[in-house]
Amino acid sequence: MRKPLIAGNWKMNKTIAEARALAGGIVRGLADSPGVAEKVDIVLGPPYLSLSAVAEATAGAPVGVAGQDCSAEAGGPFTGEVSVPMLKDAGATHVILGHSERRELLSEGDARVAAKAAAASAGGLIPIVCIGEPITTREAGTTLDRIGFQLEHSVFSVFTNTPAELVIAYEPVWAIGTGKTATPAQAQEVHAYIRKRLGEAFGVDWAGNSRILYGGSMKPGNAAELLVQPDIDGGLIGGASLAEADFLEIIRIAAGG
Ligand code: PEP
Repeated sequence: MRKPLIAGNWKMNKTIAEARALAGGIVRGLADSPGVAEKVDIVLGPPYLSLSAVAEATAGAPVGVAGQDCSAEAGGPFTGEVSVPMLKDAGATHVILGHSERRELLSEGDARVAAKAAAASAGGLIPIVCIGEPITTREAGTTLDRIGFQLEHSVFSVFTNTPAELVIAYEPVWAIGTGKTATPAQAQEVHAYIRKRLGEAFGVDWAGNSRILYGGSMKPGNAAELLVQPDIDGGLIGGASLAEADFLEIIRIAAGG
């Protein structure tokens, strides 16, 4: 069976010292919760500047570290960008790609997300590719069409061979940072569709072993009803990942209580 994955997206929050303290607190909290880390994979996604500090604070603990983006290029004249080798050098294991805030605020399109996912995978990072529909799409009843389009253009277009490991995060845009959450039934419907499409593209066995995360105002109060859904394999968590106690509580819920 799939091991749940709980990933925190810290966005543009935390100084280096604050990031180190939060990561250290999470590591101590896990140590105080015997058995939990064996049942759940945990990833922390700090800003670039704090990656090394978080990697150091989590060294030896069963906790991965994610960049919040990467360049598709390995190096060169790309001012402001950070490459996959740089992320790895700083201690990253994963990279969050195509987050809706980047898609909306920085006009990041599917083709660029696909190029980054390919570069990350080739460079040894596990891509966490975010997809999700805006509220207008959900209200129009075309959510699955939109999700299918994003999968085709952000993922299937670049992986002609089955990727070693790839995580999809379904994040309805209208639920991110809004306090609104997809109902468990809404989220499950989309997750099942994503798994079906992954199975068609990469094989049913691969899809059956791959994690599909839900993101969008997940918190301790709603995590259980979401995580119990058969195709929801964890969470990509923004706001609640900044509060040590809330994040640890979601991890414990994912571990089964
Ligand atoms: C996110 O930004 O990936 C996210 C899910 O944010 P929040 O949990 O705050 O909605």
